[in-house]
Amino acid sequence: MVSAEGGVERGGRTRAGGLLSVVVPMRNEQRNVALLLERLLPLLDGLDLEAEIVCVDDGSTDETVRLLKEHRQHEPRLNIVCLSRNFGKEVALAAGLAYARGDAVVLMDADLQHPPELIKTFVDHWRSGYEMVYGVRRKWEGTSWLRRFLGDAFYRIFGVMTQTQLPRGAGDFRLMDRRAVEALNACTERGRYTNGLYAWIGFRQVGVPFDVDRRLYGKSGWSLFTLWRFAIDAITAFSMMPLRVWSYLGVAVSLFAMSYGGFIVLRTILFGRDVPGYASLITAITFFSGVQLIGLGVIGEYLGRVFTEVKRRPLFLVAETVGFEPLAPAVLDRPGSSDLFPAEIPGSRSS
Ligand code: UDP
Ligand code: MG
Repeated sequence: MVSAEGGVERGGRTRAGGLLSVVVPMRNEQRNVALLLERLLPLLDGLDLEAEIVCVDDGSTDETVRLLKEHRQHEPRLNIVCLSRNFGKEVALAAGLAYARGDAVVLMDADLQHPPELIKTFVDHWRSGYEMVYGVRRKWEGTSWLRRFLGDAFYRIFGVMTQTQLPRGAGDFRLMDRRAVEALNACTERGRYTNGLYAWIGFRQVGVPFDVDRRLYGKSGWSLFTLWRFAIDAITAFSMMPLRVWSYLGVAVSLFAMSYGGFIVLRTILFGRDVPGYASLITAITFFSGVQLIGLGVIGEYLGRVFTEVKRRPLFLVAETVGFEPLAPAVLDRPGSSDLFPAEIPGSRSS
């Protein structure tokens, strides 16, 4: 099982032993904390790796943090990072990845929809040389046909627009080698579509099919509208096609307008003046005003994103850590900075 028995060793990395971090983002998961630990800890005991659990509290308003701290008292492998407010799962994951110290890092949900038993298989694949091992959802029960249809459509459109093929059914349940973690940590964008980033960073990847369990307690917060926003975020984060398409559309419309203009001139010369045309004029004006507004809207989407990126706010803020030295809030931005408010961004000094 370990590398001494013929497992792949690359770049001088020793795969025997090592540290495994399990990152769990949590928002109001008080009913799942104990159940999760009950199932996860024995599994970690069974691995021939050191293990740590990194619970990222994403601004929970229930007893999640208190429960975590209670468990921590008799479980030193449980470490806690409390964000200063709710930042959303994507950012909670980024925080977890910044704090995780493992040679390999597993991401999983707190609601036990991701069977911890699969971690063993993930580790085996990792040991055989894969930098990224992701769970692939096998069945889609409990998901309405509309959501499934929209999901399929999104994956297809995303593939065409970004030339990045996302494995359908792959989510955040995955194991990453340290090198993949560092690569993700280096992606400092605020508009994070982590699922796209996983594919974008490359490395050797492999999928492992699994069945998603039902959420044990609490409810999932994904409405169709949030999914729509998420899809727009994903596409604008990875593709410039929506911006470019307006140039092509503009060229096509201009060509058409020119030929139509020529046709009208010719017709007037040959057959005399032709005054009626109110209907076609109004139609053309309203239609193209609409098209222009859409174009402006798309530019606005991107401009808004540029705006959030240039503000360079820290991706997340940490209120409290248990088991870690707090990292600087801007750690993802400027590697190497160690105090709370790094003095300067290179090249931005005013004096
Ligand atoms: N989560 C989080 N911040 C949020 C929403 C969710 O950290 O703002 C966590 C949540 O506690 C859970 C995981 O992300 O561990 C997945 O959330 P959920 O089950 O709501 O999403 P779904 O399974 O429907 O994708
Ligand atoms: Mg869930």
